[in-house]
Amino acid sequence: MPQLTRRQFLQVTAAVSGSLLLPSAAQAAGGDKKFPLHKKIGEGVTICPYCSCGCGLVVATDETGHIVNVEGDPENPINRGALDPKSIAVRQLSNSPLRLRNVMYRAPGATKWEEKSWDWAVSEIAKRVKKTRDESFVRTVKVGDKDVPVNRAEGFAFIGGAANNTEDCYLATKLMRSLGVVYLEHQARL
Ligand code: SF4
Repeated sequence: MPQLTRRQFLQVTAAVSGSLLLPSAAQAAGGDKKFPLHKKIGEGVTICPYCSCGCGLVVATDETGHIVNVEGDPENPINRGALDPKSIAVRQLSNSPLRLRNVMYRAPGATKWEEKSWDWAVSEIAKRVKKTRDESFVRTVKVGDKDVPVNRAEGFAFIGGAANNTEDCYLATKLMRSLGVVYLEHQARL
């Protein structure tokens, strides 16, 4: 007998119960009314951005990219399909008209924010990282009468967040260590 994964089992039972429930729901809603089931829905898996537990989500989006549904990922070993109410609100977080979609920059000492392009932001960050690293790089420290190599950039730090998944953290750590950053932290530990 073929073995079903937990997710396949839920998909099959959802499809069966959906086919049983939809006709009666249609009748309750007024007889022959048709449901707008023509929309293309794409599903993807991701990680809840709210806390360091990193629960897995199955996120459904419509053709415009808007999130239309969020569920716990039954195949994620951390939450196994369970979710708390906060993570269900990811939909509101993503679709909110208040969400910032552009780079906002406030210059040192300025009181106003300016809108900038992503290209400007990326090259500005690279420029400032290079300048800070060049100015603060420590090649050796004295231990007794010896110069011991340390090769560290003491002028800046990196902080990750709960929305970073394992791959993000791996890449960030590799990049920061290659720059010589020693102050490497995660928001969930603070
Ligand atoms: S679902 Fe809840 S417990 Fe899980 S990562 Fe999100 S906020 Fe944390």
